[in-house]
Amino acid sequence: MLRLVHLYADLMNLYGDRGNIIALQRRCDWRGIALEVQDLTLGENLEPSTVDILFFGGGQDVEQETVSRDLARGVGRAIQEAVEDGAALLSVCGGYQLLGRFFRTTEGVEIPGVGLFDAHTVAGDRRMVGDVIVEADLGQKPSTLVGFENHSGQTFLGPGAHPLGRVQIGHGNNGVDRTEGVRYRNAVGTYLHGPLLPKNPALADWIIESALGRRDGLETPLAALDDRVELEANTAQARRIRQAGPRRASIR
Ligand code: GLN
Repeated sequence: MLRLVHLYADLMNLYGDRGNIIALQRRCDWRGIALEVQDLTLGENLEPSTVDILFFGGGQDVEQETVSRDLARGVGRAIQEAVEDGAALLSVCGGYQLLGRFFRTTEGVEIPGVGLFDAHTVAGDRRMVGDVIVEADLGQKPSTLVGFENHSGQTFLGPGAHPLGRVQIGHGNNGVDRTEGVRYRNAVGTYLHGPLLPKNPALADWIIESALGRRDGLETPLAALDDRVELEANTAQARRIRQAGPRRASIR
């Protein structure tokens, strides 16, 4: 059995980020793998050895400040320990920003991050909104991820950080260097919002496989699923985004 903890599910869950958990549940279920999901909120503790997958969705600056304070109680350290021990993690936008070193808001307030990722974020004066195509590197074969972004924070990776992929269309981490997201051990940060995993099954399976590998100590490949619908959704969206062409960031 695998155990997933949804970090601050009541505060950090924008644009249907929770759809990612439903996708993981279905893909586990189709393979006969039990996946237990538990929400964690303010004041609660995380036991690193009992969690296989962590999910951290997006949120606005005000929620990020509240959550940052709670992370500092020890939850941030527990997330780091779980990831160092091989747990899988998917973080999106506001959650991704909080796992970096800090996020500096437009007001100049520096919200401390966990420091799991060698990255920092600075609020920009443009909002980066729109559809995104990313050529991702998940360690084995490259895969095309499609999704939607909506952020003003510009994330810059440090020398110790590997991007999740390169932006073909869209803004990605900062709208400047064409990187998108970050990958460290089995942890991923990304700006791709909403239900990202249903139309990107390669990423969903990478998360499940990583979690199983850590739990069982085995590198057993997952049973293949009939992904015709998922892959058609992926290619149809990529086609539509390419036809619409590149987007400009909008002034806030
Ligand atoms: N406050 C962050 C930004 O706009 C995160 C927003 C989000 O999670 N969508 O950069």
